[in-house]
Amino acid sequence: MQMIRDRTLQAREKLVGKLPVTGELVRGALLERTVRHRSGCPKCTRGEGHRVFVLTVSYPGGGTRQLSVRRERVEEVRRWLRNYHELKEAIEAICELNHELLRPAARATKRGRKTK
Ligand SMILES: [Zn+2]
Repeated sequence: MQMIRDRTLQAREKLVGKLPVTGELVRGALLERTVRHRSGCPKCTRGEGHRVFVLTVSYPGGGTRQLSVRRERVEEVRRWLRNYHELKEAIEAICELNHELLRPAARATKRGRKTK
């Protein structure tokens, strides 16, 4: 049992070592939209419209927030989103390992259950 515990702790340490420790994090979805002006804009009259980027962030209560993102910051925002997802995945994986560590040792051996 101790061995399994050590292995789990080892795996956890490995995950912790890989955590992207950075403040460059943002949650949400980056969407591209086309804005069209009703009148007075030659670009829109030609049917081109303007491409804009919006970061949509949803909140647990059902609320949503939309932030417009300047084109020159799109790559940066993509990187922040990637960091967020990597960090979140690592946190979830660590939590799964901690479930193993919390499981009472005797029961775990008796039932030999292994989920995932
Ligand atoms: Zn326009």
